[in-house]
Amino acid sequence: MQDLYDIIIIGGGPAGLSAGLYGARSRARTLIIEKGKWGGQAASTEELENYPGSIEQPTGPEITSRMKKQAEEFGVETKAQAVTELKLEGKIKTVVTDSAEYRAKTVIIATGAKPRLLGCPGELELRGKGVSYCATCDADFFTDLRVVVVGGGDSAIQEAIYLTKFAEKVTVIHRRDQLRAAKSIQEKAFANDKIDFIWDSVVAEIKGDGIVEGVTVKNVKTNELSEVETDGVFMFVGYDPVSELAKGLVDMDEKGYIITDENMKTSIEGVFAAGDVRKKSLRQVVTAAADGAIAAVSAEHYIAEKFE
Ligand code: NAP
Repeated sequence: MQDLYDIIIIGGGPAGLSAGLYGARSRARTLIIEKGKWGGQAASTEELENYPGSIEQPTGPEITSRMKKQAEEFGVETKAQAVTELKLEGKIKTVVTDSAEYRAKTVIIATGAKPRLLGCPGELELRGKGVSYCATCDADFFTDLRVVVVGGGDSAIQEAIYLTKFAEKVTVIHRRDQLRAAKSIQEKAFANDKIDFIWDSVVAEIKGDGIVEGVTVKNVKTNELSEVETDGVFMFVGYDPVSELAKGLVDMDEKGYIITDENMKTSIEGVFAAGDVRKKSLRQVVTAAADGAIAAVSAEHYIAEKFE
């Protein structure tokens, strides 16, 4: 069957690209379908200081574009299309996109996660008008201006540090009095003169007439409200899985993360999941890449067992 792929991978982030590399390298006919930016969230991160081997500070976009090139050199096919439907029952799976339909013996879901919205008034209205979820994409717009960063995890603090290369001042607003970020990232932030912190506080409202002008900050201990003038608001309050396509098809946890075993097998035969979309304890580029490799090898074993 000419148009039958061995492996179709949905998502072109580190998990999908790694799965593609391993699949193509074993001579499986492998297709990766990505609807947006190749490289996933890692392509929106300037510094990938904890990806093994990245000591000379290649950026997220550099590392992920090398991942794609490497997979392509081994023969992976790629399509820039949006997947709209999955038909996963039966031995042959069908992946429907906005412009075509593909069939495969196995499917690897590597659709990742997307930034969570804070949900306060003004956020949606001023999105793209000073409200951003990606420092790498938008930091430049805030050269010599003031920005606030919401959140206290690795993303918030790492991106706050990156923003100091552009902004005049970066104010981190965090709902507790301790950061969640790794200690090494915290130390860099505390040593940075351009960063200050508002503790025990949340952003209650983002204000501005067509463009961000300030935020109303609520102290969660005293309920006191205060106004902070700012030109930009960067949200880093966590991520949600991009798993809607597979909802009702494969087993998920209550947050929508896909449940797999250690071989990346989902609850449906021939369907695997890898990377941030999967229920797991550590979501990093290195674990996404590892998941992708395992998923591709599991897919090959499955094909050998069921089709050959
Ligand atoms: P995260 O670890 O889930 O942190 C989210 C932060 O937002 C937390 O500080 C949380 O506060 C805060 N938050 C959540 N909901 C909020 C709300 N409604 N209002 C105000 N604050 C809220 O998310 P992340 O930092 O994006 O990281 C996601 C994953 O990627 C993690 O596993 C992280 O380790 C990984 N990551 C790693 C690196 C790295 O290693 N260099 C870089 C980026 C991301 P609390 O602390 O009070 O919960």
